[in-house]
Order: sequence, then C-alpha cells, then structure tokens
Amino acid sequence: MAPKKKSAKILKCPTCGMIVTAKDEDFPFCSDRCRKIDLGKWAMGVYKISSPALDPEVLEDLSEIGRRGGNRDDE
Ligand SMILES: [Zn+2]
Repeated sequence: MAPKKKSAKILKCPTCGMIVTAKDEDFPFCSDRCRKIDLGKWAMGVYKISSPALDPEVLEDLSEIGRRGGNRDDE
C-alpha cells in the first residue's frame, strides 16, 4: 500500500476553514466550538443535501439484487 502524504497532518477546519494541524487538541477542528457546529450540521442533515445519497456502483448492485429476487416468472 502506498504511504499517505505527510502533508495530510495539516487540514482545514471543516467549519471555518482555518488551518489545523494534528497537534491541535480539537483536530480536525480548530476549536471545540467548531466541532460542535459541525456536529450540529450533521444532525440537521445539511451535508446530506450537498452529497449524493449513494455511490453509482451501490445503486447498480441494488438494482441487480432486485431483479434477481423480484421477478420469478420463469417458473
Ligand atoms: Zn474552525
């Protein structure tokens, strides 16, 4: 497996965009306040709106399962 980039230890706070390092107590957030704000967004479903519900591959799998289990007209 390829090793992760060492720069991955520096992230932007998901809430306010401030640079955060892995040394920070509230990593990956810049502060406890931002962490709570982010949790609140999840709870309200804000992130669900901006991201696709499922991977296209997962949807394909589901439709395949439905086809196999749903129609059994050949018996
Ligand atoms: Zn922040």
